Amino acid sequence: MAKKRKTKINKWLKKTFNKWKRTWKKNWKKTWNNIWKTIRGKKKRRSKKRAEEQRIYYLKIFVSVSAVLLFIFFLHSVFNRDSNSIRRPKIHKDYLTVNPYSRSGISLKKVNGIVVHYVANPGSSARENRDYFEGLKDTHETKASSHYIVGLKGEIYQCIPEDEIAYASNSRNKDTISIECCHPDSDGKFSEKTYESLLQLTAWLCDRYSLDEKDVIRHYDVTGKLCPVYYVKHEDAWEDFRKDVKARLQ
Ligand SMILES: [Zn+2]
Repeated sequence: MAKKRKTKINKWLKKTFNKWKRTWKKNWKKTWNNIWKTIRGKKKRRSKKRAEEQRIYYLKIFVSVSAVLLFIFFLHSVFNRDSNSIRRPKIHKDYLTVNPYSRSGISLKKVNGIVVHYVANPGSSARENRDYFEGLKDTHETKASSHYIVGLKGEIYQCIPEDEIAYASNSRNKDTISIECCHPDSDGKFSEKTYESLLQLTAWLCDRYSLDEKDVIRHYDVTGKLCPVYYVKHEDAWEDFRKDVKARLQ
């Protein structure tokens, strides 16, 4: 009796197994594809999530860096603001090589004035005059230089740092900043653009060194040399310039 039941169970198991095997064989491809699709879907979702996290991470870095830069810019503008908010003119810094003929490197301890000059070479550019000063280290022709040169188009070159002396104003080299100006003609009159840049540069310097228009002088006022010639021959034009400096300082 028991043996009969066992055989019956075995038969049923075999039958079931075969049925399952048949179904599996029939559907294994479909099943595998389903499993693979599920895995891939998960993978896709996961990589999508990772990409999203990465985007947020980079965004956070970008925002942080921008905030830091803005803060530095803010501090810089607060601490470097000119007291009287006179706009700094555009200046091309092109310092001369230190040499005994045009840039001695001797320090300028205190600035008590601004001296205006003319280059006495009609039509020459600021750049050419700057290069002439630079060339003196080789030619040894003379000792000459200037802190600033204002060109025919109003461009400004700086040849010497403000804390070093220039060879421009004789006995006043030791306590003044010098500005050479280009001019189109031999009468030495400055072009409108040169005049405007000279005015802005002078006012900006006066403001920074707590000077006023009376501290702005001509080379002529130091040595009697006809420099800047137009403003020696036209005293009224020189006084007008000083008045313009005063107006810009107010
Ligand atoms: Zn001069």
